[in-house]
Amino acid sequence: MRLVFVGPPGAGKGTQAENIIFRYKPVHLSTGDMLRAARDAKTEVGLQADKYMSSGQLVPDDVIIGIISERLKNDDCKQGFLLDGFPRTIAQAEALDQMLSDAKTPLDTVLELKVPDGELRKRLAGRGRKDDAPEAVEERIRGYHTITSPLLEYYGKKGLLKTIDGLGAVTDIFERIIKVLDSCR
Ligand code: ADP
Repeated sequence: MRLVFVGPPGAGKGTQAENIIFRYKPVHLSTGDMLRAARDAKTEVGLQADKYMSSGQLVPDDVIIGIISERLKNDDCKQGFLLDGFPRTIAQAEALDQMLSDAKTPLDTVLELKVPDGELRKRLAGRGRKDDAPEAVEERIRGYHTITSPLLEYYGKKGLLKTIDGLGAVTDIFERIIKVLDSCR
């Protein structure tokens, strides 16, 4: 199963990604986790990326595309993968399409986790991650609407998009996800 998981910051993607991994066993490819690990290890890419991340901006496309294209070559991705946090721009989505069509491993489904902005602000205010300062949160929400949400139309046209209501109890939301993923297996 090859999946892309799309949703605004604070939508609960991380939590639901864990549930999906546990049940369906794809490899979890979280660009946020990868970048934070690179930052903490103080690699060159990590230190570069930190400048963008701490202000809520996106890391440049070529950087993140380079990271993902290397990672997708790894053997473990043959068992399927869940891309979490990538693609976030149309340029990234096009690059991903190219990589996957070269490898003859197209996407099966794009899951959108949908949560209204007011609820996102409430959730992120309580989280306290380094990039969860109020100005960075606003920048990430704004970035989602302007830069990332065009992906919904992009994948909708390809017939890949499945939208999940991200409000309610974690277990109820996961039930909604299971319904979608079981039906497209
Ligand atoms: P969130 O979904 O809460 O914004 P993530 O953990 O997915 O957070 O990502 C944290 C930060 O890492 C983003 O704000 C951004 O700076 C950077 N980042 C992650 N994925 C990408 C990507 N695909 N393109 C550009 N920047 C990214």
